[in-house]
Amino acid sequence: MQVPFFRHSLDAGDANKIAAVLATPFLTSAGVGKEVERQLAEYFSVPHALLVNSWTNGAVATLLALGVGPGDEVIVPAMTFIATANVVELLGAKAVIVDVEPDTQLIGFEAVRRALTPRTRCVVPVHLYGAMVDVAALRREALSDRPDVAILEDAAHCFEGRLNGDRPGAHSDAAVFSFYATKNVTCGEGGAIVTRRDDLRDALVQTRLHGMSAGAADRFNAGRYRHWDMARLGAKANLPDLLAALLPDQIRDVEAQLAKREDLIQRYKQGIASPAVRWPAEPAGGVHARHLAVIHVPGAARDEALEILSAAGIGATVNYRAIHTLTYYKDKYGYAPDDFPTARAWGDGAISLPLFPSLTRVEQDYVIQVVNERIAPLAEAAAVAAAA
Ligand SMILES: *Cc1c(COP(=O)(O)O)cnc(C)c1O
Repeated sequence: MQVPFFRHSLDAGDANKIAAVLATPFLTSAGVGKEVERQLAEYFSVPHALLVNSWTNGAVATLLALGVGPGDEVIVPAMTFIATANVVELLGAKAVIVDVEPDTQLIGFEAVRRALTPRTRCVVPVHLYGAMVDVAALRREALSDRPDVAILEDAAHCFEGRLNGDRPGAHSDAAVFSFYATKNVTCGEGGAIVTRRDDLRDALVQTRLHGMSAGAADRFNAGRYRHWDMARLGAKANLPDLLAALLPDQIRDVEAQLAKREDLIQRYKQGIASPAVRWPAEPAGGVHARHLAVIHVPGAARDEALEILSAAGIGATVNYRAIHTLTYYKDKYGYAPDDFPTARAWGDGAISLPLFPSLTRVEQDYVIQVVNERIAPLAEAAAVAAAA
C-alpha cells in the first residue's frame, strides 16, 4: 500500500474560483483577497488581517514594519523550520537561537530571558506542530522589563489553535500564517499577517508592497491617476487574487477539518504502543491545531526508521533537525550540536507520519502496523543500547 505524507483537498471545482478571478480586469490583489482579509480578521478576532504570498515574505514585511535591520537581534527557537530564522538573517539582523523545553519542544522562556541583550528587538515564538506557546506568559515571564521587544508569532502550524480561549494574534504584535502547499489551509503558496496594532497595520500596507504609499489597484480605482510616494523600504509580499480565491471555503470549513485531524491523532496515539516511541507533551488549556503528527525515537534508530517507512510505501519526513546543526548557522555562529541539547535530541529522533483529513482508516491502520511491527522494536533496541 502507498500512503502519501500529504494529500490536499483542492479539486476541479476549485478551478471555477480561479476562472471567476480571470473574468475580472485586475488579476492581482483587489477583490476576493479583501474579502478573505475580512474573513480572517473575524476568525482571529483582530482588527487587521493582511494576505501575503508566503509566511516568509509576510515575516520579512513584518520585521521591516517593526524596523528590524542590521545590528539588531531577533530571538528564535532551535526547533523550527529554517524560515523562522532566515527572515531575520535576510534583513541583515542576527537570528539568536535559543533552546526549547524538553516536554513540549516549544521555546523556553528562561532561555529567552538569558538571550536578551540591548540589541534585542523581537522574539519569534513558534507554535510547533500546532501546539500554542503561551504568548501572554512569554511577555509576562521573559519580557516584563522589556516593553521595547516585539513578539512576532510564527503561526505557520497553527491556524486553528487556541490557548485559554485566545487565538494567535491576541497577545503579540503580530502573528504570521502560511498557506503553503502542505499547511492546514492552503492555496499552494500564500500566507497572512494578523495584528491588533493600527500603526503596524499602516506600516504593513507599505512593507507588503514595495514600500508604496498606495496599492496598485487603489492607484487606478480613484478614476484619475494619483502619484504615490515611497517613504520606507518594502518587500513584494502581496497575495494575488488568483490564489486568494481558493481560501474562503477552506476557512469556513476549517473547524470541521480540524475535528478529523484530531480524530486521526487520537487513533495514532492509541494505536502506537511502545515505550520507545514518544509524542511531544501538549500545553494544557489549549486547542491543538494538529498540523503535524510527529513521533520521536532514539536518535540511533531514526534514519533506519525513515528507510523502513519509505520502503513500506509510507510518506514520512522530519520536522525538524535543529536549525543550529545546519551548515549555514553552524558555520556562521560556530555552534556545536549540544549548544541547544533539547532541540538537537528532538531533531535527531523526530519522524513525521502522514496526517491529513482524507487519510482513511485503512491507510492509517497500515501506518500504525508498520510502526508497531518494524519501527518500535528498532526504537526499543536503540533505547536499551543508549541506556547501557
Ligand atoms: C511552512 C513554515 C514556514 C514558511 O512558510 P512559507 O509560507 O513556505 O514561507 C515558516 N515557519 C514554519 C514553522 C513553517 O512550518
